[in-house]
Amino acid sequence: MSVPTDALDRTSTDRPLPVLGCDVTVPLVTGGEVTYAALDYAASAPALRRVWDDVAAYAPYYGSVHRGAGYLSQLSTDLFENSRRTVAGFLGCREDDQVVFTRSTTDSLNLLAAALPAGCEVFVFETEHHASLLPWRDARVSYLDAPRTSAEAVATLERALAGRDPKGPALVCVTGASNVTGELWPVRELAAAAHAHGARIVLDAAQLAPHHPVDIAELDVDWVAFSGHKLYAPFGSGVLAGRADWLRESEPYLAGGGASRKVARRADGGVDVEWHTTAARHEAGSPNVIGVYAIASACKALTDAGFDRLVERERELVARVRAGLAEVPEVRVLSLFGDDAPRVGVISFVVDGWNSSHFAAALSAEYGIGVRDGLFCAHPLVRTLLGGDTDDPGECGAPDAGPGERSLNAIRVSFGAGT
Ligand code: PLP
Repeated sequence: MSVPTDALDRTSTDRPLPVLGCDVTVPLVTGGEVTYAALDYAASAPALRRVWDDVAAYAPYYGSVHRGAGYLSQLSTDLFENSRRTVAGFLGCREDDQVVFTRSTTDSLNLLAAALPAGCEVFVFETEHHASLLPWRDARVSYLDAPRTSAEAVATLERALAGRDPKGPALVCVTGASNVTGELWPVRELAAAAHAHGARIVLDAAQLAPHHPVDIAELDVDWVAFSGHKLYAPFGSGVLAGRADWLRESEPYLAGGGASRKVARRADGGVDVEWHTTAARHEAGSPNVIGVYAIASACKALTDAGFDRLVERERELVARVRAGLAEVPEVRVLSLFGDDAPRVGVISFVVDGWNSSHFAAALSAEYGIGVRDGLFCAHPLVRTLLGGDTDDPGECGAPDAGPGERSLNAIRVSFGAGT
């Protein structure tokens, strides 16, 4: 078989947004050099040129925030708090929502897990990324079976929630766009189902936010989590935004300076602490100002470029890649909801007779195309899509799949603004 290089060709004359890392030339094992095609945006996306420029322009003026009287400190504090407002606007936050800066989506969801009220039940589909599946260790978790249509997803959640006591707290955690299939989940309908049963809902927007507008109020979700490095701002920050009450009432995620409003020795020798009730409660320590500024810069760049245009462009690219892959009989594209499901630029597939890791390595070494192989931190989902139980292949290493044998892991191609 031949590698579908045509389908994967990303050289384009009208990139919607300039992205760094697009013009890297790499050597091929078979000789010669090519312009590297970065098709692993779902893992981490290169910085937008504008994000890079904004960060470079600010870097010489970097100072600590919330603490200094000096000019650089004042400037950095303004920039940090303005970034919070920019992110709130980008996400369509309600008036009393909080925007907490974290390290990543994983960090954001762990923060929320630490803020759950006592006795909170959690409902999560087994198809989630491990960042959504695993943080709820202290809660009573119901893992919901993989649905095969988006209507079935809503019905499954409805059924699960119907059996619970609506007076107790509950949280549904759902991913907006799958990092394996790229398929969009029916977030609005799932939010309505959650609220109808007295539950709250958090949206894992790690893969959705870089590709689609995410409006908290319009989707009527309670929280949204996403990562800067998937939103073209790879400087180590993430976001948890949404309802203030659970965040205000829980213990701080980290204890330390910045989270505490007042600390005093008690007469008995101990220490009394009054914690902030704002987002600062969960942002102890010196924050990642550059990472936060980079996220705000990316939010502005995407807004200015116009999501309508980006979504349309990506729809064309998805169709082109899928059409190219469909021409190769050995290729099977992985899908939970079927060919017609709306999706972002994330496509996973297996190639009959190929070990996916070897195939991905060959794409890189022989064609200069960077993709990801493995189980994509969504082991239960990928196993379901590949056809049920497999031996445990680990994250990447799978035994060789011979002709006609089932692959034990998959290959993922992903792209976005600037592709
Ligand atoms: N959720 C989804 C859907 C993801 O794709 C990822 C990362 O791949 C995460 C959560 C975790 O993101 P991070 O590694 O930035 O915490």
